[in-house]
Amino acid sequence: MSGKKRKAPTSAAKEPSAKQQKLAPCKEEKQERAGGWLQDHLKQQRTEKKDMKFNKKRLRFVSKAEDVKQGSKGVLYWMSRDQRVQDNWALIHAQQLAVKENLPLHICFCLVVPKSELSTLRHFSFMLKGLKEVAEECKTLDIQFHLLHGSAGEVLPGFVSDRGLGAVVTDFCPLREQMQWLEDVKNLLPKDIPLIQVDAHNIVPCWVASPKLEYAARTIRGKITKLLPEYLTDLPLVEQHPYTATRTAKPIDWDETLASLKVDTKVGETDWAKPGTKAGVAMLESFIDVRLKLFDTKRNDPNAHALSQLSPWIRFGHLSAQRVALQVQHSGKTAGVTVASYIEELVVRRELTDNFCFYNKKYDSVDGAYEWAQKTLKDHAKDKRPYLYTREQLEKAKSHDKLWNGAQYQMVSEGKMHGFLRMYWAKKILEWTSSPEEALSTALYLNDRYSLDGQDPNGFVGCMWSICGIHDQGWAERPVFGKVRYMNYKGCLRKFDVARFEKQYCPKNL
Ligand SMILES: Cc1cc2nc3c(=O)[nH]c(=O)nc-3n(C[C@H](O)[C@H](O)[C@H](O)COP(=O)(O)OP(=O)(O)OC[C@H]3O[C@@H](n4cnc5c(N)ncnc54)[C@H](O)[C@@H]3O)c2cc1C
Repeated sequence: MSGKKRKAPTSAAKEPSAKQQKLAPCKEEKQERAGGWLQDHLKQQRTEKKDMKFNKKRLRFVSKAEDVKQGSKGVLYWMSRDQRVQDNWALIHAQQLAVKENLPLHICFCLVVPKSELSTLRHFSFMLKGLKEVAEECKTLDIQFHLLHGSAGEVLPGFVSDRGLGAVVTDFCPLREQMQWLEDVKNLLPKDIPLIQVDAHNIVPCWVASPKLEYAARTIRGKITKLLPEYLTDLPLVEQHPYTATRTAKPIDWDETLASLKVDTKVGETDWAKPGTKAGVAMLESFIDVRLKLFDTKRNDPNAHALSQLSPWIRFGHLSAQRVALQVQHSGKTAGVTVASYIEELVVRRELTDNFCFYNKKYDSVDGAYEWAQKTLKDHAKDKRPYLYTREQLEKAKSHDKLWNGAQYQMVSEGKMHGFLRMYWAKKILEWTSSPEEALSTALYLNDRYSLDGQDPNGFVGCMWSICGIHDQGWAERPVFGKVRYMNYKGCLRKFDVARFEKQYCPKNL
């Protein structure tokens, strides 16, 4: 989030009209995706690099036990955040362990639907359809995929004992609930079974990048950049597994599973984002072919189609950020396009958000903000707000500001909001609600319920940056915001064609 330093977008004169734009990206991307060159290219890349070594610094032992239990019947990858087969360091490590011990390989996913307004069809359908693709790929590779029903603590230790498995490898997520699942499994797993965590989401493992809470992008950038030559490597192929399990996985009826979930169906599936790794690779391909060349100059223009749009696939682990970074670097070089600004977002900014949530237990609370920000927000807590809206009014996009309403409406209907508007949107919630605490909880609720990429460290940090100044500095003091950076409608008018956005996304009858 560095809105201020970014260049203002250049003229949109040559772009299609708003009406054309609405249809254009789909057509244009479809055309590019039809090529499908990237799928084949990646397969070839992984095959060529199949002897690539696993860097042991990517893992940490959660249990005291470190060696695979002798006489066991397999190794288990407990898939959680990184829901893909290829380009997944946790699965790569699990397979290498299993091969070394001449054992079959299993994957399990523990399906649990929290009773929450955030459990929506939009999110669970995307996730389950992605997992279905994982299960199908596993079948072709002789890896057993198991869908377990219940939280990991409840179902995983029993499953391991019942199947006689000798080691559990899992991936990494710094969020509270996922950390609790890990703790539960650690406590309940038989003591002679190693529990190994591999950070398959970050390029530089979170605990390697930094052992402490980082203050801002500028304090972590150098640390990550220094380590990239060691960690931003090619990834080897997850191969046909050479040892077959005698007890196979139960067949899964995916449609029935999805239909049986107690999720909020009012927040429905999105049209633009198809779930799964294949669709994620197609979106990456269209970014490389069509949008990458615009990224540097147009990324702050919500009317331009310049962003990668990859956040849902990265959020659900359908795509590996490491693979995206490698491919974008490679394609940028051959196309002579600057990719540094993209790598800054994908690597530095994104890995900073995991750092924040991992080392700051109050990552979703005003109490988790820096002292200067807490003080300044407190000093201005009683300032008169220019408008006051309830959560319901905001949810229904009923503010006086058409730009804000359009952004909110797009998020509710399409499950996405442009990165630049997300900053404006959250800052206005601070301005229009009665306290920073209310603003933060409203912004998180709306973001996490409607954005397909929500419920992710990026979202916690995005809202904390906008409302509580996290990873930012103090600015000139003003009402309500205090020293927290301010954004306004006039600033947006200077950056992009606001009327065009409003016309496209703010329906007349709203
Ligand atoms: C209020 C607010 C809420 C946000 N909520 C989310 C969220 O729920 N989930 C989410 O993934 N991102 C969130 N972001 C960060 C950012 O806006 C999105 O990652 C980005 O808009 C996703 O679109 P894209 O994939 O086209 O991004 P691109 O600009 O193409 O960037 C590529 C990738 O880099 C990462 N990235 C980009 N910008 C940031 C950033 N500022 N911080 C961290 N990582 C970044 C994402 O993984 C993204 O997919 C939020 C930002 C704000 C200000």
